[in-house]
Amino acid sequence: MSDRHILTAVAWPYANGPRHIGHVSGFGVPSDVFSRYHRMAGDRVLMVSGTDEHGTPITVAADAEGVSPREIADRNNRLIVGDLQALGLSYDLFTRTTTANHAQVSQEIFLGLLKNGYVFPQTTLGAISPSTGRTLPDRYIEGTCPICGYDGARGDQCDNCGNQLDPTDLINPVSRINGETPRFVESEHYFLDLPAFTRALGDWLATRKSWRPNVLNFSRNLLEDLKPRSYTRDIDWGVPVPLDGWRDRPDKRIYVWFDAVVGYLSASIEWARRSGDPEAWRQWWQTPDSDAYYFMGKDNIVFHAEIWPAQLLGYDGEGDRGGSPGSLGRLNLPTEVVSSEFLTMEGRKFSSSRQVVIYVRDFLARYDPDALRYFVAVAGPESQDTDFTWAEFLRRNNDELVAGWGNLVNRTVSMAAKNVGAVPTPGERTDADRALLEATSSAFGPIGDLLARNRQKAAATEAMRVVGEANKYLSDQAPWKLKEDPARRDTVLHTALQAISDCNALLTPFLPHSAQKVHELLGGTGVWSPTPEIREVTDLDDGSPYPVITGDYDAAQAVWASRRLQAGTPLSPPTPVFRKLDDSVVEEELRRLEGEE
Ligand SMILES: [Zn+2]
Repeated sequence: MSDRHILTAVAWPYANGPRHIGHVSGFGVPSDVFSRYHRMAGDRVLMVSGTDEHGTPITVAADAEGVSPREIADRNNRLIVGDLQALGLSYDLFTRTTTANHAQVSQEIFLGLLKNGYVFPQTTLGAISPSTGRTLPDRYIEGTCPICGYDGARGDQCDNCGNQLDPTDLINPVSRINGETPRFVESEHYFLDLPAFTRALGDWLATRKSWRPNVLNFSRNLLEDLKPRSYTRDIDWGVPVPLDGWRDRPDKRIYVWFDAVVGYLSASIEWARRSGDPEAWRQWWQTPDSDAYYFMGKDNIVFHAEIWPAQLLGYDGEGDRGGSPGSLGRLNLPTEVVSSEFLTMEGRKFSSSRQVVIYVRDFLARYDPDALRYFVAVAGPESQDTDFTWAEFLRRNNDELVAGWGNLVNRTVSMAAKNVGAVPTPGERTDADRALLEATSSAFGPIGDLLARNRQKAAATEAMRVVGEANKYLSDQAPWKLKEDPARRDTVLHTALQAISDCNALLTPFLPHSAQKVHELLGGTGVWSPTPEIREVTDLDDGSPYPVITGDYDAAQAVWASRRLQAGTPLSPPTPVFRKLDDSVVEEELRRLEGEE
């Protein structure tokens, strides 16, 4: 194992409902492919995330159901944990933002920023109810969005255009409780002094050469007009503000986005505390040769290329006001913000409210996780908006996974099992044999390079091109015609099986579930590509129970290199690796989509 440490920081799914396949295409699958590749290459990966559980939408859902925000968060956390585990996403820790550990770390970052002068108090206008005189939290104020004109915008954000708002921005604000017009009175909040980071953020972005060009350009443009942003909000659900006179106030909390991004750090610390070495997180956050890759959809770039780096720079004391690192010590900035574009569905935007949606759970009830993972890898929204169509999904599954890769495995293993009962012993190889083995074994370098740079679509396409070469070799050599020449037949079968073993390793980051099956069909035993597990734990500080995703990934045998197949390894007749889908699937799914509108 190398000493290279790689932090895979995966966007935190918001716990107001189950996730749909558009979500997991943007952050989930790409971050897992990346992590699995680096583990195979011998790097020390820490992949963390969790559910983002604070903020207005969860309190609105809780109000609507007449339950506590915690109940909503508990229910959706469990749903999301189940879905992400079923997709095979190999988190070292997938936790949540309602842990006591997360609150402590979020408060520590706030205090470090305060100490260095990067958050400051400022009086703004807050809403109260004229009839009761009580504070009206942001979510209870509704009005017309000043940016897009949507008439259901709330006091903290517009769900239509996604912009962050203040209640005073709304046109015609009204109380959702009784329809009265709120009165605005002076209210104290803390603000993050973003303009103080314009130079430091610019210097940092200037060193970021490998980012996708659209992400880098977007991030640079953000620097042109940085304004202070409120670090606290009028809300009763979130991380308390750790100051005397604020800590116990029920109506002031840290803004959900400013605590959610701290989750990458708090989850790393929680992972270390659970590992038995509470300081272990430092290897990913504080050593100069560690790298941190952040995965998300493009709607979240601003929080990962501007807000979170500014919080880190301020905590480290590296903005215009200077300062010194807080008690955790200096923290590393992101190496790369890996942002995906959007996935649409049959030409339309995913929308839970308009039912243009397929949830991960429903998808996995009908199809295998690797079928979705493959589609995302080879045809997902890596660098441009991309449409998911059922016809394309069916074609990719049937033509590429089943007929291309699965059939190569099945034909070859079944011939070897029937004729030899084991991996055959090869005789002297011909030029064609050597050419195939050269093609498969030399593919690790270039495909690994693509994966390290998050060019996953090109990597998957290249791996499937190598599979195509193996298929062509098998057709050309036609071992089924070599009954009279068993020595040559065995050499061909051995060559094809060795090529399959190489292709299986190349495809393992994309297709971990089927890679394990192929490993076993080739006579392998034990864990090839590990499956994450759901573990029930209790909060390290307050004892409340919750599920996490974690796993033992070090024991896996998969490595990023050609491994020699041992002649004589027993083989059994294979079962199919992938399921062929019937053409009627397309019509059924389209009917389901229409029926739900
Ligand atoms: Zn709007």
